[in-house]
Amino acid sequence: RRILVCCGTGCLANNSMNVLSEIKKEIDKAGADVSVETVVKSTGCNGLCEKGPVVKIEPDDISYFRVKVEDAGEIVEKTILKGEVIDRLLYFDFSLKKRVKTHKESEFYRRQMKLALRNIGEIDPVSIEDYIERGGYRALKKALFEMKRSDIIPEVIKSGLRGRGGAGFPTGIKWKQCDSVKAFPKYVICNGDEGDPGAFMDRSIMEGDPHSIIEGMIIAAYAVGAEEGFAYIRDEYSLAIKNMSKAMEEARKCGYLGENILGSGFSFDIQIVRGGGAFVCGESTALMASIEGKIGEPRAKYIHSTEKGLWGQPTILNNVETWVNIPLIIDKGGEWYSTVGTERSKGTKVFSLVGKVKNTGLVEVPMGTTLRELIFDIGGGIIGNKKFKAVQIGGPSGGCIPEELLDLEVDFESLKKADSMMGSGGVIVMDERTCMVDVARYYLGFLSEESCGKCVPCREGIKRMLEILNDICEGRGEREDIDRLIEISEMVSEASLCGLGKSSPNPVITTIKYFKDEYLEHIVNKR
Ligand code: SF4
Repeated sequence: RRILVCCGTGCLANNSMNVLSEIKKEIDKAGADVSVETVVKSTGCNGLCEKGPVVKIEPDDISYFRVKVEDAGEIVEKTILKGEVIDRLLYFDFSLKKRVKTHKESEFYRRQMKLALRNIGEIDPVSIEDYIERGGYRALKKALFEMKRSDIIPEVIKSGLRGRGGAGFPTGIKWKQCDSVKAFPKYVICNGDEGDPGAFMDRSIMEGDPHSIIEGMIIAAYAVGAEEGFAYIRDEYSLAIKNMSKAMEEARKCGYLGENILGSGFSFDIQIVRGGGAFVCGESTALMASIEGKIGEPRAKYIHSTEKGLWGQPTILNNVETWVNIPLIIDKGGEWYSTVGTERSKGTKVFSLVGKVKNTGLVEVPMGTTLRELIFDIGGGIIGNKKFKAVQIGGPSGGCIPEELLDLEVDFESLKKADSMMGSGGVIVMDERTCMVDVARYYLGFLSEESCGKCVPCREGIKRMLEILNDICEGRGEREDIDRLIEISEMVSEASLCGLGKSSPNPVITTIKYFKDEYLEHIVNKR
């Protein structure tokens, strides 16, 4: 029997480490009375962060939520020794309007498809034995010993996997570009600099399943002939840094990382670089500049990083979520992976679902799932039974999508058509009390702070838009301000150097497009 206690950052903040040690103590105390050997383990995020600490008991398949230290004795006495279920600790499913015993029964978990999150909440993140037991490093062995090196990239291309960091560029094509450049050394980078407000997908993966990221990076390095890799992780993510470091140590000890991997003759190692918290360093070229020790500013991309990236050498950079899909693709095949998702957006997407929604947390759904399913079926609907107003998807540069588009399928193309974007996967739900002009002002304020200032359209354009939004929100707005905002938006998105600037007008464009009456209300009523 396994008792799995979630020790992701969300649950840790709710005292899960003490819950874990108390359960261990109670199991020791019960001693001989525990008829089945029982292991107590810490795991990564279970998804329902807001309802933590989460304790899962297997194979009984019982999940308890909001567990307190004082519940430990009762859990051992009633559930472990007598097989009884403690009703008050079960999850209340808002959609089913009842408490449910297992993960599988609840709408929150039942409607998800966990590919990228396959191991999180199931294994001790820093135990390489746990990872291997669930098929970990099988894909690497397959790539090294059963496949031709030249067959790896075509398999990734076949899968249709597109980068999960925001731009959605086909991953296999990126690798192919890098492979075709015959200049060495080459580098492989993991972008773990997640900086969007409300986003915690990458953090949860780094904390909960670091070996999958490492395995994905090794396979890419082998495919293109790189010997050195970097995991760029924002410094605030201390648990992610700790678990990634420990996992790398273990992988080295067991021969999966470092010199002569598993006796194949191929060598590759990874080092962690801690990011200083600048949002712009999530942009690939700024991130590489930061690794090089330079100021984290983007550069024009007329020369691709796959050709001249880190220190001017061919480089593959993918984000955390992209990397964890790689072992799965190599293990099960690109064709298998491509059966999930929509025609042009394959696989699943991990979202951090937050805001005015009943079930906040980490969710993973097939591409093509509608926003309605995401927010109402999985998310349980709006808190306090208020009316849904909008959802901000794609981070601060994403767009605000209104109620009439709730049946929009979430994939790269559909979101772009709605003037939003997939981004890295932050989803912020807003209810009827939210002022959408104020929302646009908030995001522009964030982006104005985070703009690196290298190019004029972004540096000055965002500031001018913010000034106008301040005027409108504070009762000094004029009708012409709306046209001015549109005009500046077009200029900023056309002329900015990098993705941060180019996409920064999205909150303004979408709120004017879908909530223009709120702008007019501020302007006419001068409030
Ligand atoms: Fe810097 Fe903005 Fe220009 Fe990007 S668009 S380089 S963030 S000033």
